[in-house]
Amino acid sequence: MENASHLSVILDLSPSQWYQSSQTSGDKHPLSLAHFLPQLFVFLNAHLASQHENTLTVFGAFPGKSSMLYSSNETYIQADADSNTFQPFKTMNSVIAQRLNEELESLPEDAEAPIALVGALTKSLCTINRRSHPSDTLNATSPNPSKLPTPRLLVISVSPDLSASYIPIMNSIFCAQKLKLSIDVCKIFGPDNVFLQQAAHLTGGSYISIDRRDSILQYLMTTFLSPPAVRRLMAVPTEDRIDLRAACFCHKQIVDIGFICSICLSIFCKPTPVCSTCRVKFPIKTLQRLKEAVNPVLPPNIPAPKLPAEAPPATPRVMPPFSMPHPGFMPAGLFTPKKMSKIPKPAPRVPPGMK
Ligand SMILES: [Zn+2]
Ligand SMILES: [Zn+2]
Repeated sequence: MENASHLSVILDLSPSQWYQSSQTSGDKHPLSLAHFLPQLFVFLNAHLASQHENTLTVFGAFPGKSSMLYSSNETYIQADADSNTFQPFKTMNSVIAQRLNEELESLPEDAEAPIALVGALTKSLCTINRRSHPSDTLNATSPNPSKLPTPRLLVISVSPDLSASYIPIMNSIFCAQKLKLSIDVCKIFGPDNVFLQQAAHLTGGSYISIDRRDSILQYLMTTFLSPPAVRRLMAVPTEDRIDLRAACFCHKQIVDIGFICSICLSIFCKPTPVCSTCRVKFPIKTLQRLKEAVNPVLPPNIPAPKLPAEAPPATPRVMPPFSMPHPGFMPAGLFTPKKMSKIPKPAPRVPPGMK
């Protein structure tokens, strides 16, 4: 039988983004938080109902803070009995709605802080790590590790990328890879998230950006209800393009061409004399060559680009191969494959006497 599944859901609860998502102007399918929550509850109930041992935690990422909204391991005061509903589901729905309201009402009224997605992500990973290693925690009976629920993580995102959170998100991705859990991303509103796309791609999860926001429940049920092992056998919607760009460590901006420190692999948007992370100094000659590579200067013997038809074509400028100017220091190199492909290959040497 298939192992039980532990689902950890991270809700992006930026009030300004949800307000924009609920606006009808220029959008045929607006979706407000009030309309989204009942559909999310149906999805969460379906996850718990699909197998008796399935477990669930829900984290909220609010502006400037993150908190756990629900965990199926905790016991809550039962909601008012209703003969038409299954009581555990009703309790879960009311606990999440109540905690969410409390958190949103406690937010300051002035300028909105950046969304604490990284905080929610790391808390979620810590919870999953504790569940995956129950024998490490005190007073815990150690069940058979093969019987533990398979963990997975679902991020429901409405906010754009925060380039300052590139490094912590990458660290979370490495942590998720080590825990062998997949990160799924459901993008409800706004432009695509480069970092969350990479998180889903690198952990074997699914990233979908929703076109019809009014049918969010259908997306959740068809794409994210089944665990990744089952999903491989199904035709799950996926993104065919993944943006694998990185953010520079100096200005936290997403860059197309970057320079990496050969010692610590820090990324910079322009050549720097000293690596700000590991303090290694780069030789001046290397810096000059890299600056020339960014702004190429044509040698004087090559004619101007506008040539008459009969003139021979100008020889293309070829970047010299990287050399080791100082033992121990490698120059930070361009890592775009386009530039690297210009390095000329050495001619094959034929031993004397052979034809
Ligand atoms: Zn920079
Ligand atoms: Zn470095």
